Amino acid sequence: MGDALMAAPARPARVAVASVIQETNTFSPRATTLDDFTAQGLWTGAEADRCSRGTNTEIAGALTALAGAGAEPVPLLRAWAMSGGTLTGDAFAVLRGLLVDGLAAARADAALLCLHGALVADGEPAADAALVEAARAVLGPDRPLVVTHDLHANVTARIVAAADAVLGFHTYPHVDQGDTGRRGAALVLRALAGERLGTVLAKRPMLVPAESQAVADPPMRRLRELADAATGGDVLDVSLFPVQPWLDVPELGFAVTVTHHGDPATARITAGEAAERIADAAWAGRSGFAVHPVPVDEAVRRITPAAGAGPLLLVQSADSPTAGATADDATVIGALLHDDRGLRVYATVVDAPAVAASRAAGTGGRVDIEVGATLDDRWSRPVRLAGTVRRTGAGPVLLTGASMTGQPVAIGGWASVDTGRGLVVLVTERPVPTFDPAGYRHAGLDPADADAVLVRSATMYRAGYQGCHRGAVLLDLPGASTPRFDYLRFERAPRPLYPIDEVP
Ligand SMILES: [Zn+2]
Repeated sequence: MGDALMAAPARPARVAVASVIQETNTFSPRATTLDDFTAQGLWTGAEADRCSRGTNTEIAGALTALAGAGAEPVPLLRAWAMSGGTLTGDAFAVLRGLLVDGLAAARADAALLCLHGALVADGEPAADAALVEAARAVLGPDRPLVVTHDLHANVTARIVAAADAVLGFHTYPHVDQGDTGRRGAALVLRALAGERLGTVLAKRPMLVPAESQAVADPPMRRLRELADAATGGDVLDVSLFPVQPWLDVPELGFAVTVTHHGDPATARITAGEAAERIADAAWAGRSGFAVHPVPVDEAVRRITPAAGAGPLLLVQSADSPTAGATADDATVIGALLHDDRGLRVYATVVDAPAVAASRAAGTGGRVDIEVGATLDDRWSRPVRLAGTVRRTGAGPVLLTGASMTGQPVAIGGWASVDTGRGLVVLVTERPVPTFDPAGYRHAGLDPADADAVLVRSATMYRAGYQGCHRGAVLLDLPGASTPRFDYLRFERAPRPLYPIDEVP
């Protein structure tokens, strides 16, 4: 850090904070545009603080922690979009411009960037790294720069090189967004106090199904225990990044970061040894991450009356919008329509024309429409949906679970269509978050009343539905976020890559 700052302690340190978060799924056919960010609120300056305050998000946690520690937080930008396909070059240029211009105007002593870590833009497969490098260019080499990531980040050597420290969520399902922001802020403050920070990165050429990445499950639990055991002394943070697997980019792999302080020469050796040891353990246990999805018809047969025990969750992680898929695969809806037991089931599908038809019919009106495969027709076919429009609306869902608590998620227009045979389908213009029961409740459908509900989520639902479901069935389906990597073609990722290839 600069000597000038240490010589002028009377002024609180100005710490710029920016959040640019989107998880890119390169297998999604639908490009992410600036509209996907503006629809969710693209907030700059004080607005980024005001609109995030009180939410369980990195930026809110960081801003609160910095102010509480007597620093002067300078909110620059909060850009968040639902996961989706590759970001257009134009949109990336706009976001980078907002970050760089905001940082240049901020006259900051340090900066904290809250990035997902799996952002891919046209022509820039490591877009997060490009943002960090752009921020570093503004700050110069001496002013501290700390980066937080989602656990699903693809951490690159470029990011680690450009930042003083890189750290990530410790939870999956993710419930520590705010805490991660606070931990990032604490590292910034250490650096401003004159400590020398550094992060060491270890990677292994492996992909792990998101369904088996939960930190409560044995493979990740053991790795997290190793990470916690390695933390202390010179080691300030150990983060695990099993990486979201729908990312066909160079340098793809499972990462471990170890952030250290103290004498750079000795601390770096300790940190490097810890990172390699934990990465070795992940590699050695790679076969333990295998999942065993169930065919859709078999899953539908497993639905029985809930009898007050909560719904059975039909987990269509293959078409999960929080993993970047389009959420317009109606295969499960089709299978449910063939079931004639009258069981109460709630399902969702993104289908803008169906929303328009339902809104035209109005509440109580009849629709007889096709739904599904309007955005991604590679994996499924439309299915016929006939029923009565129960409700329509257009406001955002306010997340109420433990993850991103309080954050609004825009879903565009929506309508609930009651088939009269137990199945109610929520059709939406934009993906509705089903990892949180708030997505259904928003439309007046309480999962507690259902025998089964469709969740388009790999693991996040385990936080949202904790204590209010009686079981979950992982569905064997193709899709842009399928757990069956053999359905996907990786062309840019480094090979060999486990489990796609046999790696000796
Ligand atoms: Zn994640």
